[in-house]
Amino acid sequence: MKVLIVHAHHEPRSFNSALKDCAVEQLSAAGHEVQVSDLHAMEWNPVASAADFGCRANPDYLVYALEQRHNYEAGTLAPDIAAEIAKVQWCDLLILNFPLYWFSMPAVLKGWIDRVMISGVFYGGKRIYDRGGMRGKRALVTLTLGGREHMFGPEAIHGEIHTLLRPLLQGSLAYCGFEVLPPFIGYHVPYVSAEARGQILADYGQHLQGLDDLQPLVFPSMNDFDDKLMPLQR
Ligand SMILES: Cc1cc2nc3c(=O)[nH]c(=O)nc-3n(C[C@H](O)[C@H](O)[C@H](O)COP(=O)(O)OP(=O)(O)OC[C@H]3O[C@@H](n4cnc5c(N)ncnc54)[C@H](O)[C@@H]3O)c2cc1C
Repeated sequence: MKVLIVHAHHEPRSFNSALKDCAVEQLSAAGHEVQVSDLHAMEWNPVASAADFGCRANPDYLVYALEQRHNYEAGTLAPDIAAEIAKVQWCDLLILNFPLYWFSMPAVLKGWIDRVMISGVFYGGKRIYDRGGMRGKRALVTLTLGGREHMFGPEAIHGEIHTLLRPLLQGSLAYCGFEVLPPFIGYHVPYVSAEARGQILADYGQHLQGLDDLQPLVFPSMNDFDDKLMPLQR
């Protein structure tokens, strides 16, 4: 299997980086090919702008998604974007590795999604969900957070963790056709003991070993909707 890890943490000695290193070691040792996009080390530019396009379909008015399609077809996307798209096209499994920021992902990772997961390749028209451009690939979200596990759940103060993560799990990954595996979550990471953090790393190793046994999350199927994306009456 070919694995791309997109890693979004500024500190190489962080716990997040330890999770990334754990995945590289574990997956490589199991015979998988692994590439890492370390966004801070790469000084990834997260801002979607006109500078992303070498030639413009419409020089007078920037419609970002239309220029993504046009420049992909013309081979004139900014080289940093083109290189990341090629890595995603190469991989069978995409791992996004990050600390939770404001119930969401750090801006550097959001900007990777904005600039890399382009219209026309990842999605387009009705090529979404199980007809999305990335169908056949799997995605795993690996995150750490400050909160405790009991703070997340149906009755808990912050609600369900999958609800927080819905823009990423459904709106980005499932929407583009990835089969989305259950996320791996390290709770309360800065406040627990070194031993407890060691246990989280061990649990992550187990999670990675058992990837093939994980039941993907359930998202809409295009077979259940008509041409206007209205639910079919069954
Ligand atoms: C802008 C911002 C917004 C945030 N929003 C939220 C939010 O909405 N909800 C929420 O719950 N939290 C939130 N947080 C908290 C954040 O998610 C956590 O601080 C983060 O996930 C901790 O992970 P880390 O990798 O940065 O930990 P680090 O601080 O890097 O590491 C924690 C500890 O682990 C140690 N460590 C490193 N490697 C190892 C190893 N191999 N074995 C054992 N220990 C090790 C480190 O030395 C350190 O002592 C937010 C933080 C910020 C800055």
